[in-house]
Amino acid sequence: MKDTIYVIDTSGFIVDIRLPPTSIVTVPAVVDEIIDRNTKLRFDLLHDGGLSVDVPYKEYKDIVRSTSISTGDDTVLSNTDIDILAKALELSKRSTVILITDDYAVQNVAAILNIKYQPAATSGIKKKIKWELRCTGCGSVVRSGTECPICASEIKRYRVK
Ligand SMILES: [Zn+2]
Repeated sequence: MKDTIYVIDTSGFIVDIRLPPTSIVTVPAVVDEIIDRNTKLRFDLLHDGGLSVDVPYKEYKDIVRSTSISTGDDTVLSNTDIDILAKALELSKRSTVILITDDYAVQNVAAILNIKYQPAATSGIKKKIKWELRCTGCGSVVRSGTECPICASEIKRYRVK
């Protein structure tokens, strides 16, 4: 019986992870989204302990994209979301994978792709965090999307205190 691999998105690193670091996989885009100092420290410790950062393959990203279009989640999935789903999909072909994410669109697409998922709050991890989508240009808070409807700048997720 192979060990379970935990594929973790940005929301998963905000909380205190109690999983063996060698069982954790994430993608470079998630690492880029870690800005908060405490989260960065936590991530560095896990990385030193054996966490893997793997680049997702195009063929799996293409499957995730076409699936998200079929479910209508394509407008809310960020490139990072697609990368993490693609990595989870690839690994699930040869191992037991649990995707840890608090993002509903990611959970929705994972379900269609038969990838098991858990919210960060229930996966041996502590508290839940709240996110908001905010424009990197004008600072407007939006409900969904990757491009600002006002100034067309990129939308990013921010943690709400
Ligand atoms: Zn804007």
